Amino acid sequence: MARVRLERIRKTFGKVIALRDVSLTIEDGEFFVLLGPSGCGKTTLLRCVAGLERVDHGCIFIGEREVTGLPPRRRNIAMVFQSYAVFPHMKVYDNIAFGLRMRRVPEAEVRRRVERAATMLQLEGLLDRYPAQLSGGQRQRVAVARALVMQPDVLLMDEPLSNLDALLRLHARAELKRLHQETGMTIIYVTHDQVEAMSLGDRIAVMREGEIVQVDTPMRIYEAPATVFVGGFIGNPPMNFLRGVAENSEGGWSFVLEGYRLPMPEIPGVVPQQPLLLGIRAEHIRIEASPQPWTVPVTVSVVEPLGAQVLVTAYLGSQTLKMTLPPGRAVEPGQTLWLSFPPEAVRWMDAQSGQALR
Ligand code: ATP
Repeated sequence: MARVRLERIRKTFGKVIALRDVSLTIEDGEFFVLLGPSGCGKTTLLRCVAGLERVDHGCIFIGEREVTGLPPRRRNIAMVFQSYAVFPHMKVYDNIAFGLRMRRVPEAEVRRRVERAATMLQLEGLLDRYPAQLSGGQRQRVAVARALVMQPDVLLMDEPLSNLDALLRLHARAELKRLHQETGMTIIYVTHDQVEAMSLGDRIAVMREGEIVQVDTPMRIYEAPATVFVGGFIGNPPMNFLRGVAENSEGGWSFVLEGYRLPMPEIPGVVPQQPLLLGIRAEHIRIEASPQPWTVPVTVSVVEPLGAQVLVTAYLGSQTLKMTLPPGRAVEPGQTLWLSFPPEAVRWMDAQSGQALR
C-alpha cells in the first residue's frame, strides 16, 4: 500500500495543456476520485501516474519512491480501463493469471492468488468460462480481479463502470466500495459521474481545464463548493446561484435580490455594491407561511413529483431557482411562495470570479 504524491505535474499535447502544474497527495489506503467534465485532464493525470504518459515537468512519488522516469511495470501499479479489455481467447482463470505468469510467478502461487481474487469478486464458479460467456458485469469483475492479483501498491481505475447498464452499475459500485473496505487499497478512480464520485470517494478532486479546483470530502464538496463551477457540477439539481448586490446601511449588510433586501452577514473583503451570488441547495430552501423581512416571493412554474421528493422550479423576478420538497407537499404552478434561505446553508460567492467568499 502506498501514498501517491504529485508535484507540479505539467503535461501538454502540442498546444493543448492537459495538466497545468497539478499538485496532489493521495493518502495510503484512500479511495480517491478524480471528477470533472470531458476533456478536463482526468485520464491524462491517471496515465501519468501509471507511467503511460511522460510528464513535461513535475515529480511523481509512490510511497517514498520517486517514479517519474520509471516505466509502468516498475511502478507496482495496476490499471482497470473503461473497456476492461479481457483476452477473449483465454478462460477467466487464465485471464486473471496472465500478469502473474508474465512475471514468472510459480504456478502454485498463481493458483492461490487467482482463487483468492476470484472469491473476493464472486467469480469462483466462472473460472472455466470464456469472456464471451459472461455478462458485462462479470467481465468487469474479471478485469478488476486481474488487477488485484498483481497486489499493486495503487489501483488505478478509469471509468470502469461506464460500459455497464444503469442497474448493474449501481450494483458494481457497491461491490467496488466493499472491495476497497476489504483490501484497504489505495485507489485512484476517474469518473465524470458525480453520483459515482460522491458514493465511492473518501475524497474527491474536482478538475477543470487541466487544473484541480477543489479537493475535499464528498460532503464538503457538496455543501461548501469552492467555486460556482463545483456547485453547479455536483448535485442534482445543481446548487442555485442567485444574483444580487451587497449593500451596507445603518442596519448592517444586506443582499439586494430582484429589489428585495435580505439580511446578510458581514463578509471580510466585500464592498458595497459588489455583485454577489447567493448559493443554496434545493433542499435547504424553506417555505415560510407569510412575508417576513427575510423572505422573497417566488412564483411556482413547474412541479415535478419524483417519488422521494417533489422538485419545484420557480421564478424569482427574472431568475429561476429549483427547490425540493417532501412528497405530499401541495404546491401548484402559478402559486406564490415566500421563501427564506437559512444563513448556515448559504454559500456566498463573488459574482465576477465565481470563487466562494470566506
Ligand atoms: P474524458 O472524460 O472525455 O475521458 P478527460 O478528463 O479524461 O476526458 P483527457 O483525456 O485527460 O480528459 O484529455 C485532456 C485534454 O488533453 C483534452 O483536451 C484532450 O483532447 C487532450 N489529449 C488527451 N490525450 C491526447 C493525445 N494523446 N494527443 C493529443 N491531445 C490529447
